[in-house]
Amino acid sequence: MARDHREPTSKEEAREKPYVRCKACIKRFEVPLGVKEVDCPYCGKKWRISWPKPDVAYLQGEA
Ligand SMILES: [Zn+2]
Repeated sequence: MARDHREPTSKEEAREKPYVRCKACIKRFEVPLGVKEVDCPYCGKKWRISWPKPDVAYLQGEA
C-alpha cells in the first residue's frame, strides 16, 4: 500500500489511526478502520463515514 508523504500538522495527527471531527460537538475522535458508521463517543450522535483513502476517514453526514 502506498503511503502519502504529506506534512503532518501536529504530532498527534501524524499517527496512523484515522480521526474525524464530530460535526455536532466539534470533538475529534478515532474511528476503527473501514467502518461505515460510527457513534461519537462524546455526544452519541451517529455518523456515516467514507474512506477517500484506506487510512483517511471522512465524516460524510448523519447516519
Ligand atoms: Zn459528537
